[in-house]
Amino acid sequence: MTSEYEKPMPRVTDLDRPHWEAAAKHQLLIQSCNDCGHMWFPPAENCPNCLGTNLGWKEPKGTGKVHSFIIYHQGWLPGYLKSTPYNVAIIQLDEGPRFISNVVGIDNDDIEVDMPVQVTFEDVAPDVSIPRFKPVGK
Ligand SMILES: [Zn+2]
Repeated sequence: MTSEYEKPMPRVTDLDRPHWEAAAKHQLLIQSCNDCGHMWFPPAENCPNCLGTNLGWKEPKGTGKVHSFIIYHQGWLPGYLKSTPYNVAIIQLDEGPRFISNVVGIDNDDIEVDMPVQVTFEDVAPDVSIPRFKPVGK
């Protein structure tokens, strides 16, 4: 935990509160449809597949691969000035949902598309942890 975390904090809403409460306990929860089984992120009020409203939450395995990524060389927000260059990655979870996050535990130059990753959690405040992804086995 750190009091020096300067990046934007999650703006928790009633819609995504289960995700963030689970993340604080280092558990990844993804919204899912109880009717068709579809899973997605970020949370929505309707299933993006069948438009149903019978929704719940599931815990994916937390593994996936880098679908795409970009390296930011400019800190567009003040909290990122000390972090440049940093990566932003689209992670394709094994269950299907794509998750925008960061790859950690590896040099930006070594990140590759299709690289297998697994979730890890960065504790940014006593009750706030943010899902990140690290190379499998690291
Ligand atoms: Zn559905």
